[in-house]
Amino acid sequence: MNTPFSMTKNLFELPKDMIYLDGNSLGPLPKSAIDRVTDMMKREWGEMLITGWNKAGWMQQPVDLGNRLGRLTGAEKDHLVVGDTLSIKVYQALASALAMRPDRKVILTDSGNFPSDLYMAEGLVKSLNQGHKLQVVAPEEIAQHISEDVAVTLITEIDYRTGRMHNMTDITALAHAAGALTIWDLAHSAGAIEVDLAKAKADFAVGCTYKYLNGGPGSPGFIYVAPRHSSIAEPALSGWLGHAAPFEFEQNYRAGLSIERMRVGTPGVIASASLDSALDIWDMVEMADVRAASMELSNLFINTLKTSCPMLKLASPRDAKIRGSQVSFHFQDGYAAIQALIARGVVGDFRAPDIMRFGFTPLYIDKDDVLVACKIIADVMQNSLWDRSEYKIKAKVT
Ligand SMILES: *Cc1c(COP(=O)(O)O)cnc(C)c1O
Repeated sequence: MNTPFSMTKNLFELPKDMIYLDGNSLGPLPKSAIDRVTDMMKREWGEMLITGWNKAGWMQQPVDLGNRLGRLTGAEKDHLVVGDTLSIKVYQALASALAMRPDRKVILTDSGNFPSDLYMAEGLVKSLNQGHKLQVVAPEEIAQHISEDVAVTLITEIDYRTGRMHNMTDITALAHAAGALTIWDLAHSAGAIEVDLAKAKADFAVGCTYKYLNGGPGSPGFIYVAPRHSSIAEPALSGWLGHAAPFEFEQNYRAGLSIERMRVGTPGVIASASLDSALDIWDMVEMADVRAASMELSNLFINTLKTSCPMLKLASPRDAKIRGSQVSFHFQDGYAAIQALIARGVVGDFRAPDIMRFGFTPLYIDKDDVLVACKIIADVMQNSLWDRSEYKIKAKVT
């Protein structure tokens, strides 16, 4: 292993007395982002004002950041761009894919997909009003439902609840054999596992940058379009920055040459600055090392809790090879248990109806952290320390 994780851990602001096992929901603050964002504000925004779009490269930044993400996702150069939010990128990818398969009406997805992906699909189907159908099957049954009626598969590679992983290469090959396209949601993959979009022959991919990638709350989403489709894919959200020549201010829309057409409007430059410094850390590490370390940490976590906490029922696959970088358990009073853990400095999260979820992020979590967390979890679970009314009041964000 070449990546010095003890060094990367020092690059993050991590509150003392907290073991943060929720980087799968919101990554922590890279120390360098504080100066980078301040510099962007003072020197770029403050002094350059409008000229920052050229002088500081703000206009080009969504493609530059996309190329930096390409290293982590196996995207070809200039075929991944950041912007907007993941939900919007889902909509764009789905609209483009459906337009490429006009004779087919089925969007195939699974019940483990994130609600926003399903909601965006529902909304698009409604506004298209062309008789499309969102077919939701069990995660294990995707392959057997790929047929010649399917226009596109819309699948989140790693299940946000259970951490179960789909086989991107195999499912993509099956879809292609049936004439269907694929959209891969990498929300829980990018920065968590090795992803090679080009090798898997994915058609479209989307994701966010505030989870494992540590871009910060509000950092942009991203979209990938395979080179063979990028100048064919019809952009559904035809904003001016996806136009072939935005500053010609033409009356009519002409789609940009390639991935640029998936841009919509003015990029969030402040949020891009924090993402930019988060990616400096990613430049120092090998994804294979991150993956190997995360499998080790999550195995240690599962094995340690297995004996001490028999009341926690593993909801994630036992086999690390088909599990993302998170471990989930079913527990009836999971919400209260997570609150009790947070009160004791172990931060995980709860996903309805009964999932306690913990993320493993080797950039800043090590074996000692896992063992300390396991001790605290055992104490809370064995002694039912969660069974207090204050831990049962549901907050807006769980
Ligand atoms: C986190 C997540 C989202 C959230 O989408 P936003 O538009 O960034 O709020 C969508 N889909 C999946 C699979 C997610 O895990």
